[in-house]
Amino acid sequence: MAEGMRVEPDLNFIKFLKNAGGDTLKKCYQCATCSVVCPLSSDDNPFPRKEMISAQWGLKDKLIGDVNVMLCHQCGDCTAYCPRGAKPGDVLGAIRAYAYTHFGFPQGLAKLCSSGKNLPMLIGMPILLIGILFFLANGGMHLPDAESFKEVGFGHFFGHWDLHFLTKNVVFIDAIFLPAVAFALFATFRGVSNMWKEMEKSVNADTTFRPSALQFAKDFLWPSLVEIIQHKRFNECGENKNRVNGHLPLVLAFIGLFIVTNYAFVVKDIIGYFVEGLHGPIALANPIKILANVSAIAMIIGIAILWANRSNQEEKTGASGTFYDWFLIGEIMAVGVTGLGAELLRLAGLVTPAYLLYFMHLVSVFMLFLYMPYTKFAHMAYRTFAMAFEKYRESGFVKQ
Ligand code: SF4
Ligand code: SF4
Repeated sequence: MAEGMRVEPDLNFIKFLKNAGGDTLKKCYQCATCSVVCPLSSDDNPFPRKEMISAQWGLKDKLIGDVNVMLCHQCGDCTAYCPRGAKPGDVLGAIRAYAYTHFGFPQGLAKLCSSGKNLPMLIGMPILLIGILFFLANGGMHLPDAESFKEVGFGHFFGHWDLHFLTKNVVFIDAIFLPAVAFALFATFRGVSNMWKEMEKSVNADTTFRPSALQFAKDFLWPSLVEIIQHKRFNECGENKNRVNGHLPLVLAFIGLFIVTNYAFVVKDIIGYFVEGLHGPIALANPIKILANVSAIAMIIGIAILWANRSNQEEKTGASGTFYDWFLIGEIMAVGVTGLGAELLRLAGLVTPAYLLYFMHLVSVFMLFLYMPYTKFAHMAYRTFAMAFEKYRESGFVKQ
């Protein structure tokens, strides 16, 4: 270290890491076994040993711009082989958790999502919002009779009137979810842009020449997306290989549900404004309905595998169970189970329990969208762009 250079550890950062699953970081004695066994580490770009040193020193600024932190797939190989039980995989997970909060916009919401202590508020806010809208829209607690429930399903959940051919239910659902999605996308964009700037700083990138948006998408983003869908890096995991069996169906389920949601938005909400009869439940044999149901089942199976896997890993390697891991697992499980459960209860004609489960489904979907930029779900965007950055830093734009 150069004479006169001072290391100023960020004690709050260290405290955060310890609370978020990185409580073992001080045990590391720099043997580098972790960097050797990590299937994603390379000779040119070894990790996570140097990240462990930085974490011990509380070098927050260095770590939040370190692309390796986001490239780690939390396979746990390093944790399993670390001779000191320093759990480097968990430490990197804790640094990522810190980064989602640090880059998060707005900061108040990001901080709220960073601790399990706030769980009652995180669940209570959407319950209150959707509950109040339900009561206001229905003028009280009105449930349909079994006969009309069979015909309209949840189509009158928020009461009934038509705005041209658009039902009140669609208007309410859009009024709740479209702003939540738009907000989450904007917040994610802000967070990822902040991360990108830090990463550029960390490699002293000359930003005089930048790729156009199209070139960036073609050369850096698209190859990363292909790699993610193929689960190439997940397949390199040794200790925790089973995780790919849960993660892949989950990713495919989200792609399926993305298609279904967009179909519903375009056909029901936009075309449905002008054309009569496009609302109400979709027939079970309709390909879109089949895709929705298959995706929901894939989601439940995928998250159940990840749930079992996480529990096994915690038992076997002593990996820490963190709020970040379990909040996301719980959220996704709630979305899948309440969605499928509400549909089964609808088919069985059980109005009250079906309505209750549908209400919980709306709450869990709202939570998944709104909290996405700050919870572990954010890795979807952060890791994708970190993989794009990994390619970008090797390109002529940075190297020249
Ligand atoms: S985290 Fe463990 S394996 Fe890695 S350098 Fe430290 S002691 Fe060695
Ligand atoms: S958890 Fe896996 S990917 Fe992450 S640093 Fe450890 S070995 Fe590498």
